[in-house]
Parts: sequence; C-alpha cells; structure tokens
Amino acid sequence: MKQPFVSKEKLVEIIEKYPTPFHLYDEKGIRENARRMNDAFAWNDGFKEYFAVKATPNPSILKILKEEGCGVDCSSLTELMMAEEAGFSGREIMFSSNVTPAEEFIYAKKLGAVINLDDFSHIDYLAKYAGIPETICLRYNPGGDFRIHNRIMDKPSDAKFGMTKAQLREGFVKLQALGAKEFGLHAFLASNTLTSEYYPTLARKLFETAIWLREETGVSVRFINLSGGIGIPYKPDETPNDIIEIGRLVKEAYEATLVPAGMGDVAIYTELGRFMLGPYGCLVAKVVHKKETYKNYLGLDACAVNLMRPAMYGAYHHITVAGKENEPETHIYDVTGALCENNDKFAVDRKLPATEIGDLVVIHDTGAHGFSMGYNYNGKLRSAELLLCEDGNVKLIRRAETPEDYFRTLREIE
Ligand SMILES: *Cc1c(COP(=O)(O)O)cnc(C)c1O
Repeated sequence: MKQPFVSKEKLVEIIEKYPTPFHLYDEKGIRENARRMNDAFAWNDGFKEYFAVKATPNPSILKILKEEGCGVDCSSLTELMMAEEAGFSGREIMFSSNVTPAEEFIYAKKLGAVINLDDFSHIDYLAKYAGIPETICLRYNPGGDFRIHNRIMDKPSDAKFGMTKAQLREGFVKLQALGAKEFGLHAFLASNTLTSEYYPTLARKLFETAIWLREETGVSVRFINLSGGIGIPYKPDETPNDIIEIGRLVKEAYEATLVPAGMGDVAIYTELGRFMLGPYGCLVAKVVHKKETYKNYLGLDACAVNLMRPAMYGAYHHITVAGKENEPETHIYDVTGALCENNDKFAVDRKLPATEIGDLVVIHDTGAHGFSMGYNYNGKLRSAELLLCEDGNVKLIRRAETPEDYFRTLREIE
C-alpha cells in the first residue's frame, strides 16, 4: 500500500497557514535517498550526481542536495541562473542543453560549468561565441533501438538528442585541436526505467564506446555521464529500483571493460531528476465539487496546470484521501481539475473511499516533473511549494502566484 509521507493531522495544521493547492516536499526522504545514491556509487572516486534542475527548480531543494554532495544539471539560462543563486559553481554544474543559444553557452562558460554538447555543429558554434573550454563532454546517440535483454526500451533513432558515433570520433579530434584537454561522454537512452539493468546496460555501451574512441583518436575520456532515466514506482504494485544493486552492477560493467583497458580512474557522473525527488513530493488539494452524470466526478482546487503528467502522458499518480487511508475503496471516481479541457483529470475510474467536499487529497510522487511543468492555461495560477523540514516544521519555499503576477507581463508594456 502506498502511504503519503504526511498525515492528515499535519495537513490540517498546514492548511491553516497555507491554503491548498500546494506541492509539499519531504526533506528527510530527499536526504536519505541522496545518501543511498552516493553510497551506491561510493566505489567510484570521482562519482557525482548532478541533479536535473528541470525536475524541481527550487533553490531550497537544490541547497539540500548540495549539502548532500550533489551538483546540478542545467539546460537553460534560467536554470543556470538558479544554480548560481543556490551556490553552485564551476565543476558542480553540468550544462546538458540542446538547440542552445549562444548567450547560454557564454553564461555556462563564465560559470565554469561542464558543457555537454548535444550536436556536432555546436563545436564550431561554441568556439565562435564562447571559446572551447578545457573540459568538454559530448552527448552520444547510438541510433537504432535500445534493448535490454532483447526488450526494446526506447528508440534512440527517433530521439532528437545526441550525436552519432562517427561524429563523436570527429568531434574529439576537432576539440583536441581547438585546445580541449579533458573529455567526457554522455547518453540518455530511456526514461523512467524500473529495472536494475538500465544503468548497467547503458554504462557498458558507454564504457565500450570510450575505449573505442581512445583507440581511434588517442583521446582518453575522463568521465562518463549516465544521465537520467532511473524511474520510480508510480503505481502501488510496482517495485522500486534498488539503487545499491544498480551501483553494484555498474561497478561490474566498469571492472569488466574500463579497468582491463587501463581506464580504471574514469569518473562516473549521473543526472537524475525523477529518482532523486519524485517520491519525496506530493500535490495536496481539496475536494471542492462533486458531480454525478454518466460518471462520478470529484472536482479539486488543483488542476493540470499544477501537475501536467496525467493530462500529457496519461501518467498514473496514486491518490490518497487524507485520513481515509484505511477505509475500503468502495467508490469509482474521475478526479478532475477545473480547466476547460477534458484531459484535465488526475485520475480516471479510480477506486477510492467515499469522498466528500472538503476532504483533502494527496496526489503522490509529484516531487519531480510536477510543479516544474506548470503553465497558466485558463488563467490558472501556479501553486505554492512547501518544505516539510526534518524537524517537522513547514517552510514556504515558493509562494503561490497571484493575479498580479499573471498580469505583470501585460502591464509592463510601455
Ligand atoms: C530530463 C533530463 C534528466 C533527468 O531525467 P530523469 O528522467 O528525471 O532522471 C537528465 N539529463 C538530461 C539531459 C535531461 O534532459
């Protein structure tokens, strides 16, 4: 059974001060998970997790992760600015962008971030606008299907990201001629995976590619970035990833490939978003409306602008009615927001206990790619973000938008 990390009593206390809807994050869960992550890869001297800022762009969250030894992975100007504001600098920042404007390369270089190039043409572009830094990383797209034990996980050949193997080879030679001294290799081949085999399979592919690149170009890769893609169990019957086991299997691949090739000092980097934060955030909303037509509806004061994943991908997010955790699920509801869009449903045909107007609902696993995918359709406003601190206090880490925020970009026109 999936249980929220916060009790009804605590929620009732919180809403006296902060009205629903809001995203709530669990500091204790975030820290414990980050420690497990670092333990899993402690065998690798240079290991660093660069948290994907796009998953949860909030400086208070980023600072917690910084205290746990993480860096940040950015892909836009404002993400770089936020990383800087949260106290990250130099090698603590990875810049893994695509379709990148010159000003963002310039800014990333000024911060001393590790720049990860998505495209071969970006080599000349970077040289022209920002200059080639000493440390540089290239993003690989092997094409074809990405398989684990012959099961197709994803189709890199359809993905807009990364460069071909031939481009990697030419890129390394070119970058070396332009003055680069330290090289990295990156790939992101499948998203939200629930298997211990994803990272090890990807790692082996990248390790072998690094060995091939050294043979072909003489350039020895110094770090390998396994990027994101480790998933979380959104559904109650799914099994969580065992990150310690994943770390152990990546070590096996490392010892079978890089170590015999004399590359046993290559650093492993990761850029996880979902795995680092997903389970440690929830969207708290109130039932404000009930409707019975051809189906039974529960209307919430939150809507898809606060959590887009169900509307966008039909994604499952578990829902708990606070205080009714142990009541039988005797009713079937569509749980909706107020957007004038029929896909504005957090759940369709969901079994829940009998639920009444005024009940608080907890929508699980919104800690990553939740608030951050928000938008303003129908003039709806972004919610607050709150942090449930380790000591039990609750801190406002982003206030809710007001109509004034919504109109600001119109009123400031001369
Ligand atoms: C989105 C993204 C990540 C994080 O992905 P998760 O699925 O949240 O782990 C990491 N790296 C890059 C380049 C990304 O675009």
